[in-house]
Amino acid sequence: MLGTNSSVNSQLPIKVDVLIIGGGMAGLSTAYYLSQYSHLKTVVLEANRIGNSYCSSYGEERMYRRMYSSEYLSDLQEKSLQEWRLIEAKHNCQLLRENGLLFYGEVWQEETIEGSILGAKRVMEQKNIPFEELDATAMAERWAMKPRSDFIGLYEMTAGMVWAYKALQLFHQEAKAKGVTFYQEEAVDTILVSEPERIIVKSTKGRLFAPTKIVLAAGAWTNELLHHFQQSLDLEIWSMLWGYYRIETREQEHFPQWFCFQKDNPKTGDGGLYYGFPCNDHDSSLIKVGIDWCPPEYRTRTMKDFKREPDPKLAQLLDRFLRHNWRGINECLSLHCCPYTMTKDTLFVLDRLPSFPQVTIFTGGSGQAFKFAPILGKLLSELVLEQELSFDITPFNIQRVQLN
Ligand SMILES: Cc1cc2nc3c(=O)[nH]c(=O)nc-3n(C[C@H](O)[C@H](O)[C@H](O)COP(=O)(O)OP(=O)(O)OC[C@H]3O[C@@H](n4cnc5c(N)ncnc54)[C@H](O)[C@@H]3O)c2cc1C
Repeated sequence: MLGTNSSVNSQLPIKVDVLIIGGGMAGLSTAYYLSQYSHLKTVVLEANRIGNSYCSSYGEERMYRRMYSSEYLSDLQEKSLQEWRLIEAKHNCQLLRENGLLFYGEVWQEETIEGSILGAKRVMEQKNIPFEELDATAMAERWAMKPRSDFIGLYEMTAGMVWAYKALQLFHQEAKAKGVTFYQEEAVDTILVSEPERIIVKSTKGRLFAPTKIVLAAGAWTNELLHHFQQSLDLEIWSMLWGYYRIETREQEHFPQWFCFQKDNPKTGDGGLYYGFPCNDHDSSLIKVGIDWCPPEYRTRTMKDFKREPDPKLAQLLDRFLRHNWRGINECLSLHCCPYTMTKDTLFVLDRLPSFPQVTIFTGGSGQAFKFAPILGKLLSELVLEQELSFDITPFNIQRVQLN
């Protein structure tokens, strides 16, 4: 027996077909797809509330794009967009907004965690994804920008944003309506493995479950759960700063969705990668912005050590970047820190545990998984049900060298 707990023997465990651990993007999208199989008894255990501010899925919006430097991820996005559209049609709702995305900045040969301008251009050309190429003057005329004269831009007009919170709610409500049971503010406390085929899960409220299959979708908390299986993955948790700024009324129409690439500057600690969204739908004087690098001292191995307080130096870098590079920036309204669960190669983990094939896992969202929510949920459900997979997931293999 790998885990131990004396109280486990005193009550009968609840038999379930699938126990999903974690009610973030991956857990909820899997619950949504599994709920289409009415014979399955599926339970989701979520340590906090769904959509809570501790998890990676927190917030209203996420970018989607096909302009990846990796053809594989561009294809995966294509597939995911097909699923998003099916979901929108089926439930008569809007989860995507096609507002375009501007990749801009310095051009150099290296790949960042978000790819690169050159890589994105190459893949868009190969795949005939429509885009415009702009110089600094053209960008400054079109948007509220003050780009450096050597900056170039690529505008993918069919990119946009996902209404992330709305998507989580939809997955949750639809799965619940189809019979999936949700326990919120109830975490997995212990996983007892008496033999590979017999797993008992105990929750923090003392409930016992005997699941036939488990989906481990615990994001940045993955290693705390994997340790019950005497396993761990080489994951780093990055504390990522983002926030809301107010902008001048006359510039409200002139903020695109954007991502800025610049080389890092070790002297100033400026990682060079910044992003922003167009004006908020609820309050058109607000834009959401963030930085897309994490200094080593803000990287941890567990959520217990996670740095939740925004670092004043990073906040200052964000502020300075915005005021130097954009017009009409007024005051900062709020700043937040949420986790990226990073793998060394920035690719996800989507697989079964080799020693426990009844456990399917998703983690390592690496700051880019939300746009793939439907296809990830579908693939996780296919792995659970041992069905033919809708997409090749070899690159997400748990045994790859970068994870061990
Ligand atoms: C600031 C920020 C910006 C981002 N921007 C983008 C973007 O523009 N585009 C994009 O595609 N992606 C983006 N991402 C990435 C994307 O949001 C994440 O990759 C994705 O949300 C990860 O989802 P998840 O389900 O793996 O993890 P999470 O959302 O963290 O869910 C894990 C859940 O497991 C629960 N849990 C943990 N331990 C237990 C336990 N013991 N028992 C029960 N439950 C437990 C947690 O409470 C949590 O709710 C961004 C992420 C951040 C943080």
